[in-house]
Amino acid sequence: MSSSASVNRETFDNVMLPVYAPAAFVPVKGKGSRVWDQQGNEFIDFSGGIAVTALGHCHPALVNALKAQGEMIWHTSNLFTNEPALRLAQKLIDATFADRIFFANSGAEANEAAFKLARRYAIQRYHPDKTKIIAFNNAFHGRTLFTVSVGGQPKYSDGFGPKPADIVHVPFNDLAAVKAVIDDRTCAVVLEPVQGEGGITAVDADFLRGVRELCDKHRALLVFDEVQSGMGRTGSLFTYMQYGITPDILTSAKALGGGFPISAMLTTNEIADVMEPGVHGTTYGGNPLACAVAEAAFDVINTPEVLSGVRQRHQYIVAQLDAINQKYQAFSDVRGLGLLIGAQLQPKFQGKAREFLAAAVEQGLMVLNAGPDVIRFAPSLVITAEELVSGMQRFEKAVKAMVEKPS
Ligand SMILES: *Cc1c(COP(=O)(O)O)cnc(C)c1O
Repeated sequence: MSSSASVNRETFDNVMLPVYAPAAFVPVKGKGSRVWDQQGNEFIDFSGGIAVTALGHCHPALVNALKAQGEMIWHTSNLFTNEPALRLAQKLIDATFADRIFFANSGAEANEAAFKLARRYAIQRYHPDKTKIIAFNNAFHGRTLFTVSVGGQPKYSDGFGPKPADIVHVPFNDLAAVKAVIDDRTCAVVLEPVQGEGGITAVDADFLRGVRELCDKHRALLVFDEVQSGMGRTGSLFTYMQYGITPDILTSAKALGGGFPISAMLTTNEIADVMEPGVHGTTYGGNPLACAVAEAAFDVINTPEVLSGVRQRHQYIVAQLDAINQKYQAFSDVRGLGLLIGAQLQPKFQGKAREFLAAAVEQGLMVLNAGPDVIRFAPSLVITAEELVSGMQRFEKAVKAMVEKPS
């Protein structure tokens, strides 16, 4: 590739705002769950672009949709609607609790819209003081000032001056803690059905049922951030479907576009009614190119074959992790749903998740962490058996190298 010679990983340190610490190699090409770097080294991808490339790299259905729409029309703005956006919205509505869709470009923007909607609904329908948002420790909802403040990780939200007010954090899966703070001034309870960035913690069914009841009692909206857990990731189209607890507002992003930036906020007619033209918006949201790719991704993901395949792949990965752990005792817990799996490191490896990632790269494997102590697996939902087997073998070698490494 001719462009490879002129830029490399060192260039990053000279030109990019230093908010990331990317791996030592630069990916240039991907196919399925394989990726190649500038030098032609091959990797198996268990990171999925952080649960984004749910159909692997360059899936033919997505490439075709991108090419076809690329020859039709790329952008119209929200002064004009477009066919791909209307089709995708209709499909999301047909498949979920929702009646109304708002498209944006990232998870943070979908959540920003959700939180603004929840506040506006409560203020318009009930009372100007009904603005309290209840959220959870270790939650992650994005990096805009509002969403990062609703997120439950002060290390991300501190240091930027005054935060949006009236946000309360309590421990996740602790119903008594929610009960203690919820009141008639609460406009919303916001949660991830599986906390992703916070360490791969699934919500307890009883807790979720209890929160739904508390929300109904206090006329607060229940908002599910399914940016990471949605679009097939846990084995159903959205994770709420497995719990049988329906939210009032749901956000989706990441896998929604399979790698093309797009997000969506889903809600009901009753709640959507408080919005009118001019109240909220975005230039790119619902862009035809993004919606065409997302529609193609949706058509592949929302099928029994893909969704049941997620559950089979989950079993294989967890069985392999158990077998690796019997040999090396590296993990104290393996948890998660579907293809969002976390392996908690033993105390002796505390804070070393990023070192495990680097060891995996040495073996030709891309994998994620979720905080300093959890290795996260978020591979493609359609990763092949051969890619899975090869990837787990590489992971075992990485674990062996870490265990045998002099500390
Ligand atoms: C990634 C993520 C976000 C933020 O999405 P961006 O596209 O990075 O803005 C929000 N919520 C959850 C649960 C996420 O995993």
